[in-house]
Amino acid sequence: MAKQQFDRIYFDYNATAPIREAVIDAVQKAMRIPSNASSIHTEGRQARANIENCRRKLALSINNPKAMIVFTSSATESIQLALDPHLKHEGSRFSSWKLLTTPVEHSAVLAGGRFEKEQISFVKVKDTGVVDLRDLSYQLERFAKDSPDKGVIISIQYANSETGIIQPIKEISDIVHKYNYLLHCDAVQAYGRCSLDMSELGIDMMSLSAHKMGGPLGVGALVCASDHIRPTPLLKGGGQERGLRSGTENSTAIIGFSAAIECFQQSPFLDQLEDLRKAFEDKISHEMPEVEIIGRDNERMAGTTSLALPQISASSLLMQLDLMGISVSTGSACSSGKVSKSHVLKAMNIDDELSSRVIRISGGHETSQEHYDRAFDALKSIYMKLLHRSEIQDKSVKID
Ligand code: PLP
Repeated sequence: MAKQQFDRIYFDYNATAPIREAVIDAVQKAMRIPSNASSIHTEGRQARANIENCRRKLALSINNPKAMIVFTSSATESIQLALDPHLKHEGSRFSSWKLLTTPVEHSAVLAGGRFEKEQISFVKVKDTGVVDLRDLSYQLERFAKDSPDKGVIISIQYANSETGIIQPIKEISDIVHKYNYLLHCDAVQAYGRCSLDMSELGIDMMSLSAHKMGGPLGVGALVCASDHIRPTPLLKGGGQERGLRSGTENSTAIIGFSAAIECFQQSPFLDQLEDLRKAFEDKISHEMPEVEIIGRDNERMAGTTSLALPQISASSLLMQLDLMGISVSTGSACSSGKVSKSHVLKAMNIDDELSSRVIRISGGHETSQEHYDRAFDALKSIYMKLLHRSEIQDKSVKID
């Protein structure tokens, strides 16, 4: 896509970002060449070199040249690979693991990977949507006392897809490592949108997805801090990806991933996007005081605003904006496209009524001042109509 089609404005980057022009070029070029990276001839060797080049680029982009990276079909597969009760961690005394996670995770994590339900526990989040660090310490202390022979994989997202709220990953990893447990971070919403230093943050495993950062659909990665961490493969067969993910590598998509990483590194858009989002929210608060912005005072992803207008359901608001040429989403949409209640807002103690009105406006690398202005004007016109309607209703109540 790259250019907005039909003058529409795309504000649903957290679902999937518009593909970058350079990615389209790289993928198109690669698709013309037969590319099985296990083949020994020139084409095969070129495909292998492209994959290894992407692996290197990715490792450097997170400041961890020693990272062990497994390319997968999606972040969902990467999460499934990481959340393994029989994962091997060289040098660790644990040979089996439990899972501790939070109620605000993406459904790919909440499904628990390969853990059984009874092996999964939850750490509390505060009403701000941020992990309760005291509860985390308390639960890990209890695990260490009750099951000293078992390890714990703690899976906590970097940023929430519905609200953009960022978790204090460094503080979390400091707590986790006191017990020699492992931290898995679902960094799908963060990678390629903000700078992520895996080593400094103390992340042991990280799941990523190319399509959230302007890369192609259908490719993700599990990044392990080193090859000392080895999950049990989900797919067995040809032994590709160091035996951790059999199946011919999707080398064309991986080339696209590589191009997307390059684009982000060459033109980081973060500061500008954050300024635009803040100005947009300030203007909303000033001119539409009844609009609620979720997590307003939290540290959030640069391009995410989660908000509710008074008296209008999220689905009606979404449809009205869609008719005005603006694509947004409701906080939580299941795969069938039906709107379900948001488990994220529920965990933040946001009541069902407010939750049913929340939409998500998420921008990214192509989002401009003009896009935010048009979104603001559209919201304002809907807001004014709603106010007008409620004034008429008030008057008619008085006449009755
Ligand atoms: N984790 C988060 C936070 C997400 O937002 C998503 C996608 O929406 C996923 C995981 C799953 O990613 P994928 O579509 O690559 O499976």
